[in-house]
Amino acid sequence: MQGVGFRPFAHRIADREGLTGWIRNEHGAVRILVEGVPSHLDRFLAALTAEAPALATVESMEVTRVAPGGHGDFRIVESRAAGPGRLPIAPDAAMCEACHGELLDPKDRRHRFPFITCTDCGPRFTVIQGVPYDRERTSMAPFAQCPACRAEYASPGDRRYHSQSNSCPECGPRLWYEVSGNAEAERAPPAARGDEEALAHALRTLEGGGVLALRGLGGFHLAVDAANESAVRRLRQRKHRDAKPFAVMVRDLDEAHLIARSGELADRRLESPTRPIVILPRAPSYRLAPSVSPGLSTIGVMLPYTPLHHLLTTGFGGPLVMTSGNHGNAAIVTGVDEALDKLADLADGLLLHDRDIVQRCDDSVERIGPGGHILIRRARGLAPLPIDLSAVSPRPLLAVGSHLKNTLTLAVDGRAFVSQHIGDLDTLETLAHHTETRDALETLLGIEPEVVAHDLHPGYLSTRLALESGLEAHPVQHHHAHVAAVLAEHGEQGPAIGVAFDGTGYGPDGTVWGGEILLADLVSYTRVGHLRPALLPGGDLAAREGWRAAVGYAASSGEGPDGVVGSALRSRVSASAWDGAWAQVRHGINAPLASSMGRLFDAAAAVIGVREASVYEGQAAMELESLADPDERGPDVPFPAVEEEGVLVLDGWPLLEALATAATGGQSPRTLAAAFHRAVNRTTIETVTGLARRTGVDTVVLSGGCFQNLHLLGGMKGGLEALGLRVLVPARLPPNDGAIAFGQAAVVSAALAGIRTRLPEIGG
Ligand code: ZN
Ligand code: ZN
Ligand code: FE
Repeated sequence: MQGVGFRPFAHRIADREGLTGWIRNEHGAVRILVEGVPSHLDRFLAALTAEAPALATVESMEVTRVAPGGHGDFRIVESRAAGPGRLPIAPDAAMCEACHGELLDPKDRRHRFPFITCTDCGPRFTVIQGVPYDRERTSMAPFAQCPACRAEYASPGDRRYHSQSNSCPECGPRLWYEVSGNAEAERAPPAARGDEEALAHALRTLEGGGVLALRGLGGFHLAVDAANESAVRRLRQRKHRDAKPFAVMVRDLDEAHLIARSGELADRRLESPTRPIVILPRAPSYRLAPSVSPGLSTIGVMLPYTPLHHLLTTGFGGPLVMTSGNHGNAAIVTGVDEALDKLADLADGLLLHDRDIVQRCDDSVERIGPGGHILIRRARGLAPLPIDLSAVSPRPLLAVGSHLKNTLTLAVDGRAFVSQHIGDLDTLETLAHHTETRDALETLLGIEPEVVAHDLHPGYLSTRLALESGLEAHPVQHHHAHVAAVLAEHGEQGPAIGVAFDGTGYGPDGTVWGGEILLADLVSYTRVGHLRPALLPGGDLAAREGWRAAVGYAASSGEGPDGVVGSALRSRVSASAWDGAWAQVRHGINAPLASSMGRLFDAAAAVIGVREASVYEGQAAMELESLADPDERGPDVPFPAVEEEGVLVLDGWPLLEALATAATGGQSPRTLAAAFHRAVNRTTIETVTGLARRTGVDTVVLSGGCFQNLHLLGGMKGGLEALGLRVLVPARLPPNDGAIAFGQAAVVSAALAGIRTRLPEIGG
């Protein structure tokens, strides 16, 4: 991989061992020729893996003996061209400990320099314009190194030997600050404001409760004091973001522990070079403003990942809300002029710098699941690292991904490059972001796709992109892609019993799917189980207004408006909306059939009184998870599965009926939320176990957005493993639709590779 300092490192080791020869990048690998004393050659070989730089991994090594050539010294020689996809782009890495030490050291020439980097850390993917990775093809190109920096860059023993982003206060990027919303104010040129003065202005804005727009690594953040309720509210009002939780940035692990409960694994993830946002349970000492993450028992936390973040968080002295610099769902803002234009009405001040952001990249988001971290959003620090596919397509391919939480994938020679999180493909702006990302990755990786994989849904913009691309197009069913993604990232081809629980995906029968149990391998699938479809009055509107799903369930089961769902819900919904929804289900107007597990969660949250309508996607389900205590003992509620025409149908209605009855009888939402999770886990485990016995398939895949819920992921994984089954869960990609593009690539690669399906018959 480029930009991880491997060649300079090898140079250092060769010098240390007194060896001569050369090193060069060759067709996507590194070739080294060394000659010298045999015992020193052995030490050199051992050091290559044992002492490799922080960001480098040696995947494999081949050693051959050749005759000595009489080299006078050791040098880095010109690269030989790499084939398509053979030269991965390094993701950005958080500031390393050595650089941190310099930042704090008053005697160092980079003391308090906001753009410190070295070969072990700093921007990579977000500054790269072309390959090979050299300064002139990055946004560091305008900053010519001063003599002191150039000397470091040129000396093999230095930590900054061949560091492409090397700079210092003499020659590097600059900070400046601008007041926003004041058209009269003259814009101060960068040179007129020193870094320290700009930083002081930014801190004053935050201390006064203002909103600061901050140019970061992969885009702008909006920051406010996380302890100041009116400041957080002001940010929510301006951003039109009512309740969706904000993440906070803290100074260090100690400050993280004041607000969140984190174990050893969480601490390791927080401090990793990726520096993701980690969503954690709140600590008893949590004292942030109520509006930071309303209605949840969790908080998203991250540590500073750039020198600028370090200066800001230590200067401020308390947690800062850090949210994407954008309006609503639009792509995160990256450019200075764009920020002055689009963020001026959101922020009171802007802390800017002149190192351009070339590739837009949001923060990555993780949770700590059973046995490891799980990704919620894969972006900065991880993208666009390749993930191997378990079947090799003979032709390079593009997978355009899903409609929501879109990512795209380029695959060649069995390696899949999954893009950073792009967003929901429902605006022209995100569509443009999709196209830009595709163009950038194709150029940087040298991949020219011949085939395109897309979702089965004929109406998605992503489908249109695929069909208009002129490439040979292959549709892939959404839940098959979910299951295939998990199989492929684990290097498997199936068959497996795939549990795909999510909000929505287009079913080949024209109904909305989302509570699916598939017998699947990479090339094909059979729908062996599913939630019983229920009407969804209002269609897409029901994803926000969960009470509609409850009405749909009631109506589909022959219940009227005055039944048990009516008594639990009616008083909490406007009369006209209530009557309208019942008219829709009665007359079959805008009331599609859906087998969605996400909607069952929404309906359950509505009838037990947690929430009848969500203001952001998944809110009701997240609150239901937050409320449920897995140790809570309460009533067991029924969730029967019945076999109909050879397919196992999971019946949500008796479950909702029992929850509604218990809720009107005075059972607490906390107790019922736990009962609901237990019922979903119990019935799914029983159904899957039965299918495993009848098919002889003992591998189970858990996938789909519902598995961001840790009660579901942990409960099912533990329950199934206790019964002797092998359970594969998402690890390198999120359970949600961020994995769909990779799944599409897995399915189409297997088909093009000519792999035949091996799905067994279902016995009695
Ligand atoms: Zn460093
Ligand atoms: Zn310099
Ligand atoms: Fe999905």
